[in-house]
Amino acid sequence: MKQLPVDTVRLLSSSQVITSVLNVVKELMENSLDAGASNIDVKLENYGLDRIEVRDNGHGIKAVDTPVMAVRHFTSKICSHEDLEHLETYGFRGEALGSICAVAEVAVTTKTEEDDVSTQYMLDFKGNIVSQKPSHLGQGTTVSVMKLFRNLPVRRQCFSSTKKCKEELKKVQDLLMAYAIVKPELRLVLVHNKVVVWQKAKVADSRSALLATLGSSAVANLLPCHHHQEQPEIVLEGFFPKPGADYSTTSSSSPDKTFLFVNNRPVQLKEIMKLLRQHYSAQYPDDPARNRYPMLMLKITVPPSSVDVNLTPDKTQVLLHNKEAVLTAVEALLVSLYGFRPNTDLPAEKQ
Ligand code: ADP
Ligand code: MG
Repeated sequence: MKQLPVDTVRLLSSSQVITSVLNVVKELMENSLDAGASNIDVKLENYGLDRIEVRDNGHGIKAVDTPVMAVRHFTSKICSHEDLEHLETYGFRGEALGSICAVAEVAVTTKTEEDDVSTQYMLDFKGNIVSQKPSHLGQGTTVSVMKLFRNLPVRRQCFSSTKKCKEELKKVQDLLMAYAIVKPELRLVLVHNKVVVWQKAKVADSRSALLATLGSSAVANLLPCHHHQEQPEIVLEGFFPKPGADYSTTSSSSPDKTFLFVNNRPVQLKEIMKLLRQHYSAQYPDDPARNRYPMLMLKITVPPSSVDVNLTPDKTQVLLHNKEAVLTAVEALLVSLYGFRPNTDLPAEKQ
């Protein structure tokens, strides 16, 4: 038996953390949001396989931190696992930039308020700086990821088919929409091959953010709902289809317009999704397409100490310590909105 070379171990573990173009965009966007950005531009070339660039106007990275910014397990967000009890940031593992460096060519350009000019850093496979030069960009950070999966030919090949490329671009757009809904004050642009695919201006509230994502006919059919309880502390804020709303404008054949959040994090929660669909579909007992997914948003806010986000590398699955209480609260909100408790069973969730 032999121990694997360090570089092989790095590549194997990084390629589990960084699995797709979507995954890279998510990690970079979350870094931008953690840096307090109000403006984020996401630019892709060749569906992100040739280049992914995420530019923000956040606080930037201090010169003293740049040597370790992409070294795995270096983070400015937590100091020990105890800090997860009151986690306020999207990131905490110090894993994304370092892992991206292992599967792509990476350049980071950054400028803080104190810096006179921005600096562009070229990083190597291990996340170390190999060269740097002054740049002209304003305050904030731009991360450029070139030749994604260049050293993982099978994965690159899998992501290269036209079908897969288009699916991935759609998923990136859906992800941006999710952040747009949960952060109305954020300005966002998605550009592919120099063409604007989707954009959203800064808006005042969730309803306006939903308008920019779901469109006016869906939003005209949504009602704001709210629930707040102590012990366990749970806050629910949602926009749900009005009782009996026009089915065709408030439903979708896939779950991509059912936006769920836990503590501002876009998440997939199968049991909550099932509950939402049951209550929604029960209003249309005779409709042949009644298994569709409702267009809605539900924001669940619980104390950070009662949620474990470190469950999957992409953080889209979370463990809620008070899951039963959350389900009961969501159900109560749905019963109060739709006026009855359905007894329908639906097919398994689409992934
Ligand atoms: P994490 O987000 O878990 O800390 P990352 O590898 O994603 O780990 O980022 C490492 C560190 O680099 C962050 O903790 C942060 O200090 C810095 N950083 C990365 N991206 C940005 C950004 N866009 N703006 C400011 N700082 C950033
Ligand atoms: Mg991060």
